[in-house]
Amino acid sequence: MSANPITPNIPFDEDGVHHGFLRLPYSRDDSAWGSVMIPIAVVQNGEGPTALLTGGNHGDEYEGPVALQDLALTLSPGEISGRVIIVPAFNYPAFCAGSRTSPIDKGNMNRSFPGRPDGTVTEKIAHYFDTVLIPMADIVLDFHSGGKTLDFVPFASAHVLDDQNQQDACVAAVRAFNAPYTAIMLEIDNVGMYDTAVEQQGKVFVTTELGGGGTATARSIAIARKGVRNVLRHAGIMAGDITLEPTVSLDMPDGDCFVFSEGEGMIEPVIDLGEKVSKGDVVARVWATGKTGVAPVEYRAKRSGILMARHFPGLIKSGDCLSVVATVV
Ligand SMILES: [Zn+2]
Repeated sequence: MSANPITPNIPFDEDGVHHGFLRLPYSRDDSAWGSVMIPIAVVQNGEGPTALLTGGNHGDEYEGPVALQDLALTLSPGEISGRVIIVPAFNYPAFCAGSRTSPIDKGNMNRSFPGRPDGTVTEKIAHYFDTVLIPMADIVLDFHSGGKTLDFVPFASAHVLDDQNQQDACVAAVRAFNAPYTAIMLEIDNVGMYDTAVEQQGKVFVTTELGGGGTATARSIAIARKGVRNVLRHAGIMAGDITLEPTVSLDMPDGDCFVFSEGEGMIEPVIDLGEKVSKGDVVARVWATGKTGVAPVEYRAKRSGILMARHFPGLIKSGDCLSVVATVV
């Protein structure tokens, strides 16, 4: 395999604040010798752990990019011991397009790991993270929300891992993030995920789903801002106490958490995010759009819990995730 073509224009091993770019050559119609310029900031002060903080893994999720732009602007080396690597918009072409995946190659960053140095633009970015940035890190925080098609109760999450010690370390960091909800997640589709790549390198990993609908709210951004600083304190990079507010612990024990639409139509939500639901309750109806006189299709919870996520747009297609019911622990 060839070497990864991305070059940073700032140092990763010098004290101070460095704002720059990861430059990825990308030859195209409007720029023969052009590049994709992924913004990056590195703040370092002496010895200590390294945190790698990312937003914009999906380009239509905004809590991470806002909180990380704020952190990159305001974090001073005097506040930390160690190193903080900040990439507010990880899949930068997707972020610029306001879309989940890259407009260049349709690459979904969170299905592109471990990537390829000689692959598509998205695969090259993934490969750079997999071989250069993740290995530098002790702890990794990747911000997500639902994007344009899903909406979530705000939660931070760890995964069920084979290594119990690593899982415990991840859960402790997730608890330090202190979102209103805390989840141990079962991934329905974990091949190619950044999460999996980070976890396979033995790192402490925190992910989030803080909202959705292709935007952010004052509340969801406040959660992100607080959470990232709490994680830096938990990692021993920032000084100061972690302020913990009550969090609701959620579990997603199996595939019965998910309800998928089996037809197309217009959604009538029957319960809203965060509300309690019992097994067998109707969570949503899907109405015909083309004619009257047709009863809606009812979709029922396959387990009891709370509504953790829902399809966001008013129209739905067959196979779309309609709702997710999580168990309250
Ligand atoms: Zn996402």
